Amino acid sequence: MPPTSASTSGARPRRGEGQWALGYREPLNKNEENKKNDDGLNVQQRIIDIYSKAGFDSIDPADLRGRFRWLGLYTQRAPGIDGGKTAVLEPEELDDRYFMMRVRIDGGQLSVAQLRAIGEISTSYARDTADVTDRQNVQLHWIRVEDVPAIWEKLESVGLSTMEACGDTPRVILGCPLAGIDADEIVDATPQIQQINEEYVGSSLFSNLPRKFKSSISGCSAYCTNHEINDVSFAGVVGPDGTPGYDLLVGGGLSTNPMFAQRLGAFVRPDQVSEVWAGVTAVFRDYGFRRLRHRARIKFLIKDWGPEAFREVLEKEYLGYALPDGPEVDMREGQQRDHIGVHPQRDGGNYVGFAPRVGRVSGTLLSRIAGIAEEHGSDRIRTTADQKLVVLDVEDRRLDSITAALEAEDLQVRPSVFRRQTMACTGIEFCKLAIVETKDRGSELIDELERRLPDFPEPVTINLNGCPNSCARIQVADIGLKGQLVTDADGRQVEGFQVHLGGGMGLTPSFGRKVRGLKTTSAELPDYIERVLRRFLDGREEDESFAS
Ligand code: SF4
Repeated sequence: MPPTSASTSGARPRRGEGQWALGYREPLNKNEENKKNDDGLNVQQRIIDIYSKAGFDSIDPADLRGRFRWLGLYTQRAPGIDGGKTAVLEPEELDDRYFMMRVRIDGGQLSVAQLRAIGEISTSYARDTADVTDRQNVQLHWIRVEDVPAIWEKLESVGLSTMEACGDTPRVILGCPLAGIDADEIVDATPQIQQINEEYVGSSLFSNLPRKFKSSISGCSAYCTNHEINDVSFAGVVGPDGTPGYDLLVGGGLSTNPMFAQRLGAFVRPDQVSEVWAGVTAVFRDYGFRRLRHRARIKFLIKDWGPEAFREVLEKEYLGYALPDGPEVDMREGQQRDHIGVHPQRDGGNYVGFAPRVGRVSGTLLSRIAGIAEEHGSDRIRTTADQKLVVLDVEDRRLDSITAALEAEDLQVRPSVFRRQTMACTGIEFCKLAIVETKDRGSELIDELERRLPDFPEPVTINLNGCPNSCARIQVADIGLKGQLVTDADGRQVEGFQVHLGGGMGLTPSFGRKVRGLKTTSAELPDYIERVLRRFLDGREEDESFAS
């Protein structure tokens, strides 16, 4: 008997949480109603047959603000609406007639042809916009519905898609950019990511989940895909009998009510990953809370049941067998989890990781990166979970040349700590939920801190979000900046940030502390951060890192 909806005591809650497995099949809110009315995947054909031909005004509102997401499309924010209006306007008043499009890049794995195709789509259809996201996707803007079929055709011709890049679906699966080539790798997760993609992405089996579902499957010994904050994570470990496999964690997520993923204590062999992933996803589909959207992520189910009960339901109801107990991940103190710089691969080649500014690139630049990789003998480019990129398979004799070519494009192979570890979400330029601007702020902040503190000695993560959501992971940054309106010295409401300090992942994960009164206007942000960092330098003990 699985635990009931809102408690593990066995008593049925007075008001159901909308869990299908407990008989609550009737939709309890508008989102659930829309999903019941029509599978989100069906919008693909309507876009091809109707909307792309008849134009924006022909789009059914339930498709526009709901099902389009199943194909990686959101309306972007209409220009000129300030952050003060974000919460008070109706959604349709914030809608532009253009779309943001997310291209799904599972495991962050791209060929030269694929990256070039994305670059060309951007220059042809997206006003040369492109952002590398911290989910390893590439996000484009200014997309017209009329152009979507041609874009899909071009993506499909190189084996890419926007399928389930957003929506209440299994979204892109994070994977280590160095999968298969890293000398310290525990296990190469590429086959497992591909298998799940082939078997389940775009399938009606999981096209109606309670909410979004984020996965990470990685055998990286640096744990670069952040297993702590995904809905489900398979993180590489050496199993009980000495063979490599995965530790299984469920329920990580940031935003409001952040929670670190909980270990189920089970060891998963590589050949079991697809089945176990499908089992966890099915538990979420059937038992996940659907009544209140803000409680519909899997973390709320884990919080309610606990990891032991979750594992029991997974094994008994979905897998039909028990998983063996397994070890937890073996993290090292002070480990850098990105893959920036030039490093040897285990096969004799080298990889070159480099940092654009806060993930912002362009179609032209993506095509240029594809060209640089090709000119240096590589056909493998990777996106990272930190808004960065990596070129694989570079011979020793070409390292100086590729480094020079990338740095000539302002893609730094040896970035400052600030360039390396500052991330920013989409922000008010395009996001309808945003209250403040983030990308330009982040970029300016990097410039200022590099100028003011050129020799800052410690890694420090600075993440900027445009609203209380946590697309750029503010709660796990050393300095997390949450966009909001603040009062300036003249008493005016202006763009600014609530500051969270001391967040981090790794050996001792913690969420940043939000201290009342720790706020800054956007204009004063560089001064504020400089003060925080100088205070740290003045007060630190020998070898103390910013995170400790
Ligand atoms: Fe938009 Fe907020 Fe996410 Fe930034 S954090 S992209 S503003 S929803």
